[in-house]
Amino acid sequence: MRLKVTVRGAVQGVGFRPFVFRLAAGLGLTGWVNNSPQGVFIEAEGPRAALEQFRLRLETEKPPRSFIQSLEASWLDATGFKDFQIRASEPGGDRTALVLPDIATCPDCLREISDPKNRRHRYPFTNCTNCGPRFSIIEALPYDRVNTSMRSFTMCPQCQAEYDDPNDRRFHAQPNACPVCGPQIELWRGSVRENTVEQLPRSQERGHNALLAAAQAIREGKIVAVKGLGGFHLIVAAHDEPAVRRLRERKHREEKPFALMFPSPESVKTEGEVSPLEDRLLRSPEAPIVLLKKTANGKSQIANAVVPGNPNLGVMLPSNPLHHLLLAELGFPVVATSGNLSDEPICIDEHEALDRLRDIADIFLVHNRPIVRHVDDSIVRVMLDRELVLRRARGYAPLPIQLRSAECGVRKAVRENARPAQIPNSKTILAVGAHLKNSIALSVGNQVFLSQHIGDLETEQAHAAFRHVIADFEKLYAAKPQIIAADLHPDYLSTKFADEFTGSAGSPRPVTAGAQGIAHPARIGVQHHIAHILSCMAENEIEPPVMGVSWDGTGYGTDGTIWGCEFFLVTHESIKRVAHLRPFCLPGGGQAVKEPRRTALGLLHEIYGDTVFERKDLAPITAFSAAELDILKIMLARKLNAPMTSSAGRLFDAVASLVNLRQQIRFEGQAAMELEFALRGIETEAHYNLSLVTRHPLPVLDWSPMVEEILSDVKNGVPVAIISAKFHNTLVEEMVAVAKKSGQQCVMLSGGCFQNRYLTERAVRRLRAEGFRPYWHQRVPPNDGGIALGQVVAAWRAKG
Ligand SMILES: [Zn+2]
Ligand SMILES: [Zn+2]
Repeated sequence: MRLKVTVRGAVQGVGFRPFVFRLAAGLGLTGWVNNSPQGVFIEAEGPRAALEQFRLRLETEKPPRSFIQSLEASWLDATGFKDFQIRASEPGGDRTALVLPDIATCPDCLREISDPKNRRHRYPFTNCTNCGPRFSIIEALPYDRVNTSMRSFTMCPQCQAEYDDPNDRRFHAQPNACPVCGPQIELWRGSVRENTVEQLPRSQERGHNALLAAAQAIREGKIVAVKGLGGFHLIVAAHDEPAVRRLRERKHREEKPFALMFPSPESVKTEGEVSPLEDRLLRSPEAPIVLLKKTANGKSQIANAVVPGNPNLGVMLPSNPLHHLLLAELGFPVVATSGNLSDEPICIDEHEALDRLRDIADIFLVHNRPIVRHVDDSIVRVMLDRELVLRRARGYAPLPIQLRSAECGVRKAVRENARPAQIPNSKTILAVGAHLKNSIALSVGNQVFLSQHIGDLETEQAHAAFRHVIADFEKLYAAKPQIIAADLHPDYLSTKFADEFTGSAGSPRPVTAGAQGIAHPARIGVQHHIAHILSCMAENEIEPPVMGVSWDGTGYGTDGTIWGCEFFLVTHESIKRVAHLRPFCLPGGGQAVKEPRRTALGLLHEIYGDTVFERKDLAPITAFSAAELDILKIMLARKLNAPMTSSAGRLFDAVASLVNLRQQIRFEGQAAMELEFALRGIETEAHYNLSLVTRHPLPVLDWSPMVEEILSDVKNGVPVAIISAKFHNTLVEEMVAVAKKSGQQCVMLSGGCFQNRYLTERAVRRLRAEGFRPYWHQRVPPNDGGIALGQVVAAWRAKG
């Protein structure tokens, strides 16, 4: 395999390249390392185990004076290097154009804040050139203090001296600050919930006393809103069942899991199982939320309401001094969830927070350093022994993804041991992403800047944040988009934005074929599931031809129906849908997404017709009242508000309903998640019959035999774990069958369904066993958070 690594930070002029060379040579790896103004690039090839060693030891054995601010690694196909070389440094490349993400507090700064003799003892804004805020404080480039939200704080003579001294750790540390000259924390309280905004804030404590008072409130079961680096968190004690429940009620978040923040890596191990890679991720400069398996010793202190019915915990460590100090004071884990109401964007301004969070938080721990842009916590999960980013935000955004498609002669460049050239005259592309889990992307040259997670574009706030991020990126990168890529769904707010942007209301041109010229002003519509596949290809540096497996809940198809279980053949010339799930209807449309029982009814009605309404032995039927069934009967008979779909996500929902696991959901994807959880480590090779039948115009996967087999298993009392395993296995076997029919060796797995660990791991194993080369996501989310990248690639392909 080939491991591509980009290391950013204090890695130049500290012996980093010789170190990499020695480490690689010692492990018998081939490849190269070089320096560029944007960091150290490494490509290493060899056996997987040796590469894993290499990657872990890069961090643990690095030269003493080096510091890693960001380490991006991707697993790619080998290209056949002969030896390991230190290549010449690359001149050029615009260093200033790179905005670093926020970096978790470094060990040196951590030592200082816990040292009573240090002038930064307990100072919550301690940072240095190796750590601290970046993306969340930068207003414009170049990255200088005057262009950050630290502008209004004038450095004291001591801080200024550090800043000016080339031998100091704070030489040109733009957010440099100390208790004398820097930002301060304050506690805002009183009867927040009764008072009007105008009467607030009433500051009562400042500095460390504010932190102590906040800690005390948490101990007493209060909900505390804490202004951090990229926005507010709502914090309660993780062991406090009533407090967690109160938070759920006030936040209108019924069952969706809450993330936890632990005081230390050691404390995590009492609640979760931590592999070496997961441990690395927790401690990394990116400091994301890592999904861990709960320890099964029955001694958990975590309240049940934190992650109801879920075998995993979302865990992070403190990533800034304020969180470190608070957690050290508490000594126990806390729930740390985004400071927002259900799915709105995270709150960043303290006055806005008082308004938006007044009905949720009891008190506010705030500070006077403005947050320039919202940055949520990132979420990652280890799958197939690799990192898989599920939400890309703090620590990751806005690092670029370099596009190296066939169009830029990549493979050739790699073969010839040269770095691919920049694309000449490439146009600037703005991709506006999907509707849920929205993020946007802006391409500058062959670099794609993928924005931080924005959220579901359902609320006014989210829509405002979406517009804000677009304007922000255009300004930050001084880029004027010449092409705008959007989803095909005519009603998406992102699509409407694209219409406005280009002044081209009306139907966009679908991209199903590349190499066609685009007239200006360029506006391009990209089919949702095609965007998923292109995103996966770009991230894995895969050239056509490939087969794409794009499975998720919802995406607008080129035929106007809802797609979601799609197979594509991608060649240089075109992208063709080659197979899909047999469509079924969703009684009630959007409501069916919230009620798996409706989807199940849709399937059952296709098989049994109206007789299904008499089947009181079926869980989905008994889940409805008689009156509801009467309405549904009419709805189905007249095909009223009953759109057709070929969605895999809905098929998961339907199965969850058939086995009576879940009839109504409280958050997106809940039924599918529970079907995965129901597996409980079961191992079976058995599967159902989901036949690939030839139909006009495309072959479809017919689910009806499988549904009947599932009903028979339910009737015979087969455990849900077995039914779930057989269902997952069935999907994988059909994927293999379509792959065989496609004649392609490379199979791309993308879409929200591939957040499911069992499905992804089994698909990869079975595809490999049958001689295919499966690829899945790593640093770009498989869910709709990765759509914008695929939209950029589609626009790129279309340019020819
Ligand atoms: Zn530091
Ligand atoms: Zn100072």
